[in-house]
Amino acid sequence: MKEIAGTVLVGRSFEPIRGRVVIEDGRIEAIEEAETASTDVVLPAFVNAHTHLGDSVAKEAAVGLSLDEAVAPPDSLKHRQLAAADRSDLVTAMRRTLRYMQRTGTIACLDFRESGTAGARALREAARPVDVDPFIFGSGAESVLDVADGYGASGANDDDFSEQRAACEERDAPFAIHAGEPDATDIHPALDLEPELLVHMVHAEQEHLDRVAEQSVPVAVCPRANTVLEVGTPPIRELLDHTTVALGTDNVMLNSPSMFREMAYTAKRFDVTAREVLRMATTAGAELAGLDCGVIAPGRRAALTVLDGDSDNLAGAVDPIRAVVRRATGLDVKRVVV
Ligand SMILES: [Zn+2]
Repeated sequence: MKEIAGTVLVGRSFEPIRGRVVIEDGRIEAIEEAETASTDVVLPAFVNAHTHLGDSVAKEAAVGLSLDEAVAPPDSLKHRQLAAADRSDLVTAMRRTLRYMQRTGTIACLDFRESGTAGARALREAARPVDVDPFIFGSGAESVLDVADGYGASGANDDDFSEQRAACEERDAPFAIHAGEPDATDIHPALDLEPELLVHMVHAEQEHLDRVAEQSVPVAVCPRANTVLEVGTPPIRELLDHTTVALGTDNVMLNSPSMFREMAYTAKRFDVTAREVLRMATTAGAELAGLDCGVIAPGRRAALTVLDGDSDNLAGAVDPIRAVVRRATGLDVKRVVV
């Protein structure tokens, strides 16, 4: 049995409780209110809801490029760099990114992996020695589902993904798709595929929001990536009012995959509360991927990020949730409990 003491952000509302989390066999046994001298802040470890770890080989290579020039398949800079990368360099680069994600408090990510079955295999290999578990949305032919956990489609205007959609149905694997990133034209066609997850929805209008609510489709938003690629700002408030919204950092090419950075940007730029942002960064992503973490509650897997509440950065903060969401950085992470 293990105990972690401090200010614990408990349950789906992250109610701050002074006390301890009791862990038995990797599961949360109990949360106990108690006097403690610990200044640590204990929160659920982050689940990054959208990444492209493959472009760890092309960091900061896309300066000044448009969405199409930077990341669109098959001829963008990203795809040329992926094709040119040596396999062992690619695996090493993805592994280092996963290690950085772990250091910054992340336990899992939902990754769109390019390059078909070989690409999915390379990511599995990269993740083996790291304590971050990638949930892989594979690409290419539907046989990628032999290795990947689900299918990740680039967008409904790019190709016909009906076979991959059907294959996911058959195997009970989730089908995810980019939608509404440069404009709204691919949103209805994406929704016609009845996806388990939409990514971006920057250009979602009321008719799309109504359909998202009706079909109960969760959405992963990546506001920093949208800013870098100058495609606009997602209607996060409206999306939250219609469905489950999770937060992702998108292309490693464009941004560092730190959930602290994504949370701070989202909290300061959009009409959302710190609690909502923390839920988008933890609970929401975990639920999308069917992971048993993302909430500090009895019976859940003990995947926790422990921050030093007495760090030079966080000491004296009045509101622990705001401090975690708007102020904390990777430097405040004491450890990640897996
Ligand atoms: Zn993406």
